[in-house]
Amino acid sequence: MRTLKLLHPLASVLSGSGSSGKLQILIYHRVLPSDDPLQPGEPSVADFTWQMEILKNHFQVLPLSEAISKLKSQTLPARAACITFDDGYADNLHLAAPVLASLGLPATVFVATDYLDGGIMFNDITLEVVRQFKGDQLDLTAAGIDQRYTIGDTTSRLAAWRAITSQLKYLPVEERQNRAMQCADMTGTRLPRDLMLKSEELVKLKASGVDIGAHTHRHPILKTCSDDMAAKEISDNKSTLQQILGHDIELFAYPNGVPLQDYSKRDRQLVKQQGFKAAVSTSAGTSRCDSDIYQLNRFTPWDRTPARFYLRLLKNYLDK
Ligand SMILES: [Zn+2]
Repeated sequence: MRTLKLLHPLASVLSGSGSSGKLQILIYHRVLPSDDPLQPGEPSVADFTWQMEILKNHFQVLPLSEAISKLKSQTLPARAACITFDDGYADNLHLAAPVLASLGLPATVFVATDYLDGGIMFNDITLEVVRQFKGDQLDLTAAGIDQRYTIGDTTSRLAAWRAITSQLKYLPVEERQNRAMQCADMTGTRLPRDLMLKSEELVKLKASGVDIGAHTHRHPILKTCSDDMAAKEISDNKSTLQQILGHDIELFAYPNGVPLQDYSKRDRQLVKQQGFKAAVSTSAGTSRCDSDIYQLNRFTPWDRTPARFYLRLLKNYLDK
């Protein structure tokens, strides 16, 4: 166990009453078997393990639904934290869940249901395109990508992936997927079909003690959707999850999650109308008892050394 002795004086700050009542919610997407230079934001299982040990040792990790109830009733313990995952990657079951179970930590996985059972999200398609490309000039202009990218080392591949992905992200969801598939077809890219959970794996994930939440069906940017499409994305997702799992789904995460940019007041209202008890954004910081229960803040920890990771959590917790 990592004790971070040098940081204990800072940790004592957290026991003060001024910090109680705040809820810190962490966002993860994937946990990888080992470091992937093209996915620097996704921890390896080794890094994820020490991150979870630090959380267990220095924070009070609660199930998200319990934390939200306690937030509303102003009974949250000091240093309250929750762990969440977005999208529904299979590694959440195979790599993250065993670590969580071994440490007795609860978590919630928000699942975009259209990608269950062999699907692949547009950003993972483009990642494989730049990963597998063997030439030095990646020309995807026929798929509507605005320029050619010089491909060489990891840095150039990562830069190309970020540029291509940002061009596609805000397109209508079908066009976004079609263009990404066109990029893969043009370059002869082989696409993995086991990235996301299968339905039976989702049931296993739930059985392992992980809660399941909603994340829309196809992961569109809700703000770009018509009223009907936004409502359908949310309701199809909820009903599919309920059918697979056999129970009500109460928590929702907005795709991409930036308030006003990725979802609007309309979408917040739709989520509430469709019976969700709470929703989470990707706006950084903590939440308090007077926070909007349908727009709780979340925070992505990205540091790769224990001391920096801990300090980042501490800073996020202590910031207003
Ligand atoms: Zn997502």
